[in-house]
Amino acid sequence: MNTKTHMQWSWILIVSFFTLSILNIRFGLLGLICIGAPMYHAIKGKGKIHCAKYCPRGSFLGKFLAEISFNKNLPKGMNTKTFKNILLLLMIAMFGISLFHAGLDYKKIAFSIFRLMLSSFVIGIIMGVIFRPRSWCIVCPMGHATGLIKKAKESKNSFQNSRDRTNPNKAA
Ligand code: SF4
Repeated sequence: MNTKTHMQWSWILIVSFFTLSILNIRFGLLGLICIGAPMYHAIKGKGKIHCAKYCPRGSFLGKFLAEISFNKNLPKGMNTKTFKNILLLLMIAMFGISLFHAGLDYKKIAFSIFRLMLSSFVIGIIMGVIFRPRSWCIVCPMGHATGLIKKAKESKNSFQNSRDRTNPNKAA
């Protein structure tokens, strides 16, 4: 399957996730896959491949909002590192607090994940209608965190390469 195909159909996954979670909140635990997948790929050194090839949320926003979006430009203040960092920290804090309150109750944990997924999905849709369809992707905490991991890996690799070049034992 090629890249285009994945993004054409992967929206089905997020619609299925919400449907199943509404029918039975236990399915909310599956949201961990959606949260973890971009990180997993980035840690594996595949950068933002999840955003480009697989993301069900990005697929949904791109597919269904194109026709109804007002296509306004995102306010400049939202396309800044500071804004994205604040949003990421806010999401981590809110998710952390809700998991803390959930304790070891897996239904409450599932509900916390579902609520996080739903709230970001609704915000993504609202942003996609007002601004461009995939405006959420510009500020998305998952996408931003993935970008940070990618940058950290790149600078680690370039540091390693320059150290190898200046190491006479390695160069020989
Ligand atoms: S930025 Fe977020 S919503 Fe957009 S494709 Fe990446 S992970 Fe998905």
